[in-house]
Amino acid sequence: MVAKHSGNRREFMTHRAKVVIIGAGPAGSIAAALLLKKGYQVTVLERDIFPRFCIGESLLPQCMEFIKEAGMLEAVKAANFQLKTGAVFINNRCSAEFDFVDKFNDGFNYTYQVQRDRFDTLLAEQAISFGAEIHWQTTVIDADFESGLPTLTIENKTGHSDQIEADFVLDASGFGRVLPRLLDLETPSNFPHRQALFTHIEDRICEDNYDRNKTYILVHPEIKDIWYWLIPFSNGRCSLGVVGESTLFESIDSDNTLAFKKLLGVEPNLSRLLNQADFDTPVQSIGGYSARVKSLYGDGFALLGNAGEFLDPVFSSGVAIAMKSASLAADILDRQFKQETVDWQTEFTEPLQVGVETFRTFVQAWYDGRLQDVVFFQRQQNDRQMATIRELLSSVFAGYVWDKNNPYVKNPESRLRTLVEMCRNPDLN
Ligand code: FAD
Repeated sequence: MVAKHSGNRREFMTHRAKVVIIGAGPAGSIAAALLLKKGYQVTVLERDIFPRFCIGESLLPQCMEFIKEAGMLEAVKAANFQLKTGAVFINNRCSAEFDFVDKFNDGFNYTYQVQRDRFDTLLAEQAISFGAEIHWQTTVIDADFESGLPTLTIENKTGHSDQIEADFVLDASGFGRVLPRLLDLETPSNFPHRQALFTHIEDRICEDNYDRNKTYILVHPEIKDIWYWLIPFSNGRCSLGVVGESTLFESIDSDNTLAFKKLLGVEPNLSRLLNQADFDTPVQSIGGYSARVKSLYGDGFALLGNAGEFLDPVFSSGVAIAMKSASLAADILDRQFKQETVDWQTEFTEPLQVGVETFRTFVQAWYDGRLQDVVFFQRQQNDRQMATIRELLSSVFAGYVWDKNNPYVKNPESRLRTLVEMCRNPDLN
């Protein structure tokens, strides 16, 4: 349905949709698919045209649950992405491997490492095949939630503006953070300003004991809160990145490419693994990505994925949280449209925060060194207690952070405190 009316200065075409989703990343496409399955018309507005580059390539097994729920599992399985079965952590003393088959809960024990240009295109195409209408190169530039129906002002690539009204808006705009900015919802993150330098390389790794089915997380030999990721893809290439506080990086070199090379050069395991690699792609940088909002919902809208909150890349939690928020929102919206009484605080924000808080505790403990002491703790052989703990930790690393049967989800801070004490003082236990 299209109507024409005049605003103060400009004349807009006004389009009408049941649900508008801003952004066609994982949160947007999964939300679109779930709402379409429930019978609602969905319009997605996407600033870019896909495929487009996006960082965030290592999925967690928990993501597979939402991909399955959205009816996209077969397509994702058929796409020949790199299998991922766990993570290897390495510091200057030792390495520690966590395998998802060891996790304590049921559910997927594998996932994929995905080039996000391909992965996000696949999910968006799936959503289109279920009936989603995606408007590419359409940027949301303004929003009105005060007079009548929620109304967004959009601009296409030629600079032409229109408006679109909807019963409800889901903001899945990622780091675009459209509604947090327009509605003044942003609030500072309590994490420091960190930065990631990263690239894609032809890795040519040929070491026998290198496991291509794992993500590698390596700690800087001297500075514990600088860490590296090595995420292999199925085509012989990999994503390689380093994360640390921005001020530290600047002190190493003001040029990102030189800082990246210097940081790689001091990590002996990476230098060895990548000694044949072809660094054929420019180094990119992203910083200050941790973000929060005052509220994840309001009258006529909810925030999904990174548009709501982003913690940190270290445990690859971003896409899992994005998909969980999409799944929760689609269920509540369905009931709201059926005139049932819903409460976005207790049915959306609070359940979502269970997993976010678990990851927040783990991220905090990673950077202050406590979790590193746990991860690299050398267990005695036949230590049954430690084996059980590792199963519980594997579940968290697999992204099953909404399973309150796991004590590290139910009481992350106190459980972790006890565990850290145990690992730091093993003789006392
Ligand atoms: P996005 O995937 O960012 O999608 C948002 C979409 O909205 C984009 O396509 C964008 O073009 C569109 N958009 C933006 N503004 C507008 C607008 N005004 N109008 C219309 N459309 C708009 N996560 C992981 O799970 N695993 C990892 O290994 C991982 N590594 C990371 C490494 C780094 C350094 C960083 C910073 C993040 C990492 N993440 C990782 C996080 C991950 O990138 C995000 O959490 C994830 O992409 C969020 O998905 P989303 O759907 O919310 O947003």
